[in-house]
Amino acid sequence: MTRGPATTLIHHPYRAPEGWEAVPVPVAKASTVLFKDTADLHKPRPRDGLSYRYGLHGTPTSYTLAARIATLEHAEHCLLVPSGLAAVTLPSLAVLRPGDEVLVPDNVYGQNRYLTESWLPQWGVTHRFYDPLTVPELRDNTKLVWLEAAGSITLEFPDLLGTLAACRARGITTALDNTWGAGLAFNGFEPAPGTHPGLGADIVMQALTKYPSGGADVLMGSVCTRDRRLHDRLNHAHEHLGYGLGQNDVELVLRGLPTMPLRYAAQDRVTRELASWMAGRPEVARVFHPALPGSPGHEHWLAVGGAGAACLFSAVFKPEYGAAQVDAFVDALQLFGIGYSWAGPMSLAVPYDMSRSRDLPLPFDGGTLVRFAIGLEEGADLRADIERALESLRMAA
Ligand SMILES: *Cc1c(COP(=O)(O)O)cnc(C)c1O
Repeated sequence: MTRGPATTLIHHPYRAPEGWEAVPVPVAKASTVLFKDTADLHKPRPRDGLSYRYGLHGTPTSYTLAARIATLEHAEHCLLVPSGLAAVTLPSLAVLRPGDEVLVPDNVYGQNRYLTESWLPQWGVTHRFYDPLTVPELRDNTKLVWLEAAGSITLEFPDLLGTLAACRARGITTALDNTWGAGLAFNGFEPAPGTHPGLGADIVMQALTKYPSGGADVLMGSVCTRDRRLHDRLNHAHEHLGYGLGQNDVELVLRGLPTMPLRYAAQDRVTRELASWMAGRPEVARVFHPALPGSPGHEHWLAVGGAGAACLFSAVFKPEYGAAQVDAFVDALQLFGIGYSWAGPMSLAVPYDMSRSRDLPLPFDGGTLVRFAIGLEEGADLRADIERALESLRMAA
């Protein structure tokens, strides 16, 4: 049977030789996954990351990344989603039902706050924002408690052990946003092995956009669990939401993972140096960084091991420097980009007006806050840049 060129090219018989071995994981892309024959098509396929059915549900490349993230987080199961925000919405949508209440720390990642305030009420879900430094009051209809360690922008470190233990005692599901710890600073499932065995979160999610990618080029998230039934529930929601991934993005995260512990440690070291130095500057009223004594929740950070810390710190400028002067300072920085996300190669600085973003009192009164995210540049160069920009701050006074 002679075939035309298009048919021949699509149904080409050549198959590459078996036995290809290399360090990177090959990139497998598909919408259509082919079945051998109709018997193969009719075979039941559990949706458990062990078989292939449709490209949306996973390919060898994404299954490999999911397995590696599960290992990183000390989890049994991992679902990948197209952004860190999708990893925030998935647990809330999967776990909560009409009549349920969700508790969210007041310093939660902003988009989680908006989801909770403006979206979940449409589904009959109520919420309370709680002080992350204390164990929240738990009620009969409290069905999900979010934790974020450290919290966003003001970086208070929550009472992880106390809150997780209280929830566990009442059988309330807990979800930890572990983007800051990245699976390296502490184990979200067992925060302090040895001293507090078995005290852990039920769900640990991460914005893979940050450290695991490390390149400021990919958006992705992960949702990890140890419990099979909870995983099945999340997986069910995952399928209905149609969360697919670009396999080239998966490849980039796989490529970023091996260097992540080195990047995390290097950025941690420079961030602590700069945070301590900033705390001693005459222009600065407060510096927030969980490893600095006196920073809110420092003792809770010590209680979960006091080991690693992410590349973030926030500085509150003395109230005599107004918002416009602080903007002038940020504009004068030459090595710091102005932009969101973090844990990439370039350092970033963003001024925040915190006056309308919280329900509960802020951990500081007055003064404009700048959040610094430290990249991979030389610490001495970053410090010199900040020092020079502080002159602009004083001059704008
Ligand atoms: C960045 C971030 C997210 C969201 O990640 P995206 O990939 O940007 O959607 C969620 N939680 C925390 C704590 C983050 O820093």
